[in-house]
Amino acid sequence: MKERYRLLGTYCENCKTSFFPPRKICPKCRRKGKTRQIEFSGRGRVFSYTVINVGSKTFENYTPYIIGLIELEEGPRVMSQIVDCKPEEVYIGMKVEACFRKLFEQGDNGIISYGFKFRPVDDSWKEYYEKLLADKKIKIAQRIN
Ligand SMILES: [Zn+2]
Repeated sequence: MKERYRLLGTYCENCKTSFFPPRKICPKCRRKGKTRQIEFSGRGRVFSYTVINVGSKTFENYTPYIIGLIELEEGPRVMSQIVDCKPEEVYIGMKVEACFRKLFEQGDNGIISYGFKFRPVDDSWKEYYEKLLADKKIKIAQRIN
């Protein structure tokens, strides 16, 4: 099941630049800028990352964890946790996508914060599918829309 989320930012019509997090005024054009809200695809690549072995008290249950600087397809860079992979599996340039996850839990009455994190784009099914096609082991049924 594909998780739904909305990763919103700002696009400036004047300088054709996207920003994250959203801003009211374009930091480049100031008053000349014409900004509107955009929704990012959520896909991007790992630009840089660091593995955190000792977390703050809030995050201590989650160590070690990976904090990455993600370059979104649309340009802006986002600092976020990378989940669903081990620290030794992350690499610069790895394709990732946004997903909606629990950020942290606060106190005993358990206020839970949710937000987006990034996970590796799993293209393994594609490789498998392409191999099957190449081996002519399957026939593709016609799809009627
Ligand atoms: Zn601008």
